[in-house]
Amino acid sequence: MKLSSESERLFKRAVTMIPGGVNSPVRAFTAVGGVPRFMSRGAGPHLWDVDGNRYVDLIASWGPLILGHAHPDVLAAVADAARSGLSFGAPTPLELDLVDEVQRRVPPVEQLRLVNSGTEAAMSAVRLARGATGRAKVIKFAGHYHGHTDSLLAQAGSGIATLGTPSSAGVTEAQTAHTIVIPYNDPAAVRAAFAEHGADIACVITEAAPGNMGVVPPAPGFTATLRQLCDEHGALLISDEVMTGFRLSPGGWFGLEGIAPDLFVFGKVMAGGMPAAAFGGRAEVMAELAPVGSVYQAGTLSGNPVAVSAGLATLRAAHDGVYTTLDENAARLCRLIDAALTRHGVPHRIPTAGSMFSVFFTTDPVPDFAAARATQTWRYPPFFHALLANGVYAPPSPFESWFVNVAMTDEDFTTIEAALDHAARHAAEATP
Ligand code: PLP
Repeated sequence: MKLSSESERLFKRAVTMIPGGVNSPVRAFTAVGGVPRFMSRGAGPHLWDVDGNRYVDLIASWGPLILGHAHPDVLAAVADAARSGLSFGAPTPLELDLVDEVQRRVPPVEQLRLVNSGTEAAMSAVRLARGATGRAKVIKFAGHYHGHTDSLLAQAGSGIATLGTPSSAGVTEAQTAHTIVIPYNDPAAVRAAFAEHGADIACVITEAAPGNMGVVPPAPGFTATLRQLCDEHGALLISDEVMTGFRLSPGGWFGLEGIAPDLFVFGKVMAGGMPAAAFGGRAEVMAELAPVGSVYQAGTLSGNPVAVSAGLATLRAAHDGVYTTLDENAARLCRLIDAALTRHGVPHRIPTAGSMFSVFFTTDPVPDFAAARATQTWRYPPFFHALLANGVYAPPSPFESWFVNVAMTDEDFTTIEAALDHAARHAAEATP
């Protein structure tokens, strides 16, 4: 592998032009150090950086690319749509096709509204829940990430966990005054919050199966408890499936666990790598949205035909066999990681949620954010850099999920297996 000379040159320039040199913090490699690779091309399971190095990509643009990079059906759909015009700011039949595809996979979605990012979808779902219930308070869980909307940036996961900050500067106390943050997988804490604030709680928002503090699946019965407490207290349950939706099964985490929230939040896979997202659920609740109801929500590019076409092509190509392959690829990868870390005597746990997983350096259970933070995170940077140097592009933080795609081949697993041996050795030799 070539030294990252062109990436280094570009990064030096980038930091003078873009804060931190990146347009989303986790890309800056803050948690692992070193120079982020500037990418020039993706095809199938691979990415190439500007120095011509090839990587087996285990990030998949942070989840959307279940089919791999530049899938021919998706490219053709995007090119077709683009030829007919990039944006109309008016309804298109394509939007109905996408809603149909979502509803077939996730039947509790009676109505859907398309937006441009997961942040916008989660923000809008919370506003809708507040408008529909006439209540102000929102329960969220420590370590869950719902994008960077102000009221949900309290003890959030993802990039903010990477930066080691509990919250963001610029978010006022007033903006989070109605946000109740409690530990995940702790039914007693949820019950206590409802006992104290029940009549004021508009909604509970939860990552369907959290992946933003590393992967920390819901304990058996936990989501059901959320459903039950919301029902008892007249609050809405919002399931954030931005990461899990259309990835873990055709119906996302809902397709595996089967507990229907009042509102879903979607993004990533449903737009196939283009900027689109959505929120939706019970028609009665969605009827509160403008122009029918009084909860305002809008977007110049919402339902953008090119983004919608990429999503449609992705969902249409994602037949049942795709999900079997995603599960098999994830299981095979987890086995290789486990074998390498075991061989080198590195304490580890690899929690999974469907085909999502992450690697924690600990032998203790990891049910919540506090436990995730207490793991031996200092082993992660050398582990990550050994993978990178040997052609494997893993998440640059221990608090992120790994994402497989269906395009991975035996040759890729051979590359990964060889890289893992170096990575596990470096993790074993690491010191705090
Ligand atoms: N919700 C979850 C569960 C996410 O993982 C993310 C992004 O990673 C978001 C919301 C925000 O989505 P976006 O980055 O598209 O704004």
